[in-house]
Amino acid sequence: MKRIIRRKKSGYALGFTLCFIGLIVLFAVLWKAWPNVSNSPDVFSALGSYLLTTQFDFGVGVGLKLIDLTIIGVAVLALGIFVLALSRQIFSVSAGENVLLKCPYCKNHWKASRASGYAECPNCRQFVQPTVKKNGK
Ligand SMILES: [Zn+2]
Repeated sequence: MKRIIRRKKSGYALGFTLCFIGLIVLFAVLWKAWPNVSNSPDVFSALGSYLLTTQFDFGVGVGLKLIDLTIIGVAVLALGIFVLALSRQIFSVSAGENVLLKCPYCKNHWKASRASGYAECPNCRQFVQPTVKKNGK
């Protein structure tokens, strides 16, 4: 259970990081391209041809076409969203196991990892048949 949560957290961190990197790359491309295409009557086709023809020089002799950077940015962003969605799935599975139980005698509520027919109430120490209040989140 704890391991799942930890994995979920690192999954979220990884997903957010990937989304962030992807957005930064896309934003940087747009930032570089926008002044050159914003005056064009057809911004989208101008942007497309600008991305296809312009090289982005990293300053160390390595250059990529802007369209390559755009594809990389979209791919990283999509991967980040995918990782986030996967982490969310793990999260909902682990959350579904958490239920709020209610003691029929002392009305005490407590959380359990899963609903069971009988349980010991942590308040009055009676072996009771608790009612399930709701699925925890
Ligand atoms: Zn009780």
